[in-house]
This record gives sequence, C-alpha cells and structure tokens, in this order.
Amino acid sequence: MSTFLWESIAFGPIHSRRLGSSLGINLLPTDVKICSFNCIYCECGWTLEKSLTAREYYPVDTVMQAIEHKLQESIATGKQVDSITFSGNGEPTLHPHFHQIIDRLLGLRDTYYPKAVITCLSNATQLMRPEVCAALKKIENPLLKLDAGTQEMLDIINGPIVPVNLDEVVRELCSFNGNLVIQSMFLSGEKDGTPFDNSAEPNLSAWLDKIQLINPRKVMIYSLDREAPATKLHKFDKEKLEEIASLVRKLNIPAETY
Ligand code: SF4
Repeated sequence: MSTFLWESIAFGPIHSRRLGSSLGINLLPTDVKICSFNCIYCECGWTLEKSLTAREYYPVDTVMQAIEHKLQESIATGKQVDSITFSGNGEPTLHPHFHQIIDRLLGLRDTYYPKAVITCLSNATQLMRPEVCAALKKIENPLLKLDAGTQEMLDIINGPIVPVNLDEVVRELCSFNGNLVIQSMFLSGEKDGTPFDNSAEPNLSAWLDKIQLINPRKVMIYSLDREAPATKLHKFDKEKLEEIASLVRKLNIPAETY
C-alpha cells in the first residue's frame, strides 16, 4: 500500500468535513509512524514495533515555534482557522511533553485565534498517564477512539503493541464526564485467518454498553476511507453505519456517520 505521512510539525489549514478549517499539528517524526496501536486500517501503514523506543521527539520549543509560525502565517494570509488539530503520523499523546505543549498552545490559541477550538485525535491508550488525561481535559475537543466493545475485538482491530486493557481505557473515558467525542471505525474482514466484524454481536452490544457508560457528547461513526495496510477488509456502506448510529441515538447520545 502507499502510506501517508505528514512532512512537517504544523500544516494547513486544510478543510475537514468534521472540523471545518483545520490547522494540523504533527508531533511525531516525518519519516515513520509512531503509535501504541497497529490498527489494521491505519492510513499511515503498519506500526514498526521498534518505533516506540528508537525515536526521539521534537523538543517542545521547536514544536511551539513551528506552530506559532504557522499561526502567524495563517493570520497574515487571512486564513480562517476553526480548529487547531493534533493528528499526524501516529499517536500525539506519546510525545513525552504533550501536556506542556497543550498548556503553551492554549496561550497561543488565545493570542492568534481565540475562537478556534483545540482538537486532539487520540487512540486513548495513554489516558492512564495522569498528565495526558489532564491535558486532554483542558481542550475543547478531545476526539478519542473506541472501535471495539470487547478486548478480543480491540486486539484484532487495533493490534496494540503495548498492553492495553479495554476496561481501563473505558474507565478513563468515563472520567471525562461526557466532555469528549468518541470516534469509532466499523468494518469486517479477516486477520491472520480469523474472520471478524465489529458491527456483529456480541461486539456491537458490548460497544453500545460502553458508549452508554461513557456518555460522550457525540459519537462519530465511520468506515474505511483510504487504502489500508491489511488486505481482506470490507467497508460498510452509509446505510449500515446509519443503523449503528440509530442505536446510539436511542441512548440519547448524538451520532454522526461519515
Ligand atoms: S491509532 Fe491511529 S495512528 Fe495509531 S495505528 Fe490506529 S489509526 Fe494508525
């Protein structure tokens, strides 16, 4: 497959269906993905296990200078910025100084684009680090991943390369008291000869139970969009995604499909 990696710390703003005009931040190296998950659908390709320990991260000052430069450039060229968004080449909260970056970014946002929200797309595996959890609670738009209702499904779809316990993740997600958005990928296929479908029972009911416990302000439901590293994956159509969304809405939780 062709993998997709961002080539700089700050990029855009680009138009996002979900976020409007989004100025992107990539805290990870530009030549390889670094992640605690190895999702079968990741558009950045497979995670190299060594990448978690073998890499150095950008110093905080370098990150902040790049972001401030991009914010100044966006102001100077009259660009709108609705969201300052952490995404990039893997899991942003793995940056060892993520919490310091958030603290300093809040000040930059207030200076340059006070109406913009700060969004972080995260796989939620680092929520057990108190400073990461606290930092995500300071921003307006923590957008956290929950693809699986059971540990077995998490292991198949997300392929964690560090120990990740689904119940612990859900407990931390509950600690946001609803001030978060959950993003969930639904798909079916085969991994290492094992068929799976996270929209089928018992996974779907188990996932809904967890969504009800977490009670997020919204659930974003989507299926495959770009080329995935695994073969033998099947995308769900909009109708199927809407069926899942309607079950979420029955819990009085807003849901959107993409
Ligand atoms: S969590 Fe995101 S970056 Fe990490 S492997 Fe999954 S899709 Fe890729």
